[in-house]
Amino acid sequence: MKVKKTFRFRIYPNKNQITFIHKTIGCARFVYNYFTGKQKEKDIYWYKVNEMVQNGQLLQNNWKGEFFNKNKAIKAVRELKKNYPFLKEADSIALQKAVENVNDSYTRYYKKQKRAPRFKSKKNPVQSYTTKYVNGNIAVFDKHIKLPKLGLVRMAKSREVEGRIMNVTVRRNPAGKYFVSILVEAEVDPHEKTGTSVGIDVGLTDFATLSDGTVYENPRFFRTLEEKLAKAQVILSRRQIGSANWQKQKRKVARIHEKIANKRKDMLNKISAEIIKNHDIIGIEDLSVKKMLKNRNLAKLISDVSWSVFQAMLEYKATWYGKQIVKVAKNYPSSQLCSHCGHQNQDVKNLALRAWTCDICQCHHQRDVNASRNLRKEALRLTAGTVGIA
Ligand SMILES: [Zn+2]
Repeated sequence: MKVKKTFRFRIYPNKNQITFIHKTIGCARFVYNYFTGKQKEKDIYWYKVNEMVQNGQLLQNNWKGEFFNKNKAIKAVRELKKNYPFLKEADSIALQKAVENVNDSYTRYYKKQKRAPRFKSKKNPVQSYTTKYVNGNIAVFDKHIKLPKLGLVRMAKSREVEGRIMNVTVRRNPAGKYFVSILVEAEVDPHEKTGTSVGIDVGLTDFATLSDGTVYENPRFFRTLEEKLAKAQVILSRRQIGSANWQKQKRKVARIHEKIANKRKDMLNKISAEIIKNHDIIGIEDLSVKKMLKNRNLAKLISDVSWSVFQAMLEYKATWYGKQIVKVAKNYPSSQLCSHCGHQNQDVKNLALRAWTCDICQCHHQRDVNASRNLRKEALRLTAGTVGIA
């Protein structure tokens, strides 16, 4: 099966390369904003004419409007370079990619999946551009990456890049560090079948508990980073919006956010890979994203985000490696049911109740392990199509 994978590494560009990176970021943004602006003008005109028809100033709207046209725009970049010669200094494929990004934004907008495209700001904490692979212009070596206009850039490669390189995004983070995200198309073989199934219960105390008793704890460094983030955000809220100190603090908050996101991603990748490798059928609770986003408690919000990222990872890895994820409905009382006899114990609704004994079969349960066992059972029931809980 052919899949798309992203490899993200830190790069260490020299002074010259940094200048070129900034130039291309600026030019790609210029091109993106230029074509977005052109399209917005057309859209505004269309709305105005419509308004005039509604007000009776015009009989009908003869202006049909015009969708964004990618090929026309790519051709127009050539003209644009004549009027704005600085564009010639940038990686030309990155400029073409910027036009494609406008096209993607508008396509999603036309399909009503997204709001109207917005202009890209110089003030955005993360600045980036994307360039595409054409005729060997990009290559990955042991300690370097070859990029258009930049040549060889020193890179900290932490794992082998396997697959056909499709594009590379060069990114500068708020702390002034540089990274590349290399998108490849790779061939993956399904994992061998293990003949086992598992249920996963995610929680606040431990990150995840499996029905076979495996517990993945929330690493301590998350707690430390979360506390740091909360403090930094309080300081930010006291600064005058827009002031130099506010900007500085905002960058600090962004840095901590990024650190948490990276560490979390590493952890979730490891856990999901392990589970997918060891089991064929995996039962999880279907998490409702809408409900999560309403949450205002920071620690809770962070773990909710972790779970939804984790669920997405499990799902795509299951597809890659020929395994099966079964989502169990949110209203299934996985915590309250006795995984031994099926008796429902309402007392378990109390989240503080970490362990309990079943009135009917006298089975003693650890809350999370019991819940994950029920999720496994339910997943097996749903895949087998049998009725009732065994
Ligand atoms: Zn029981």
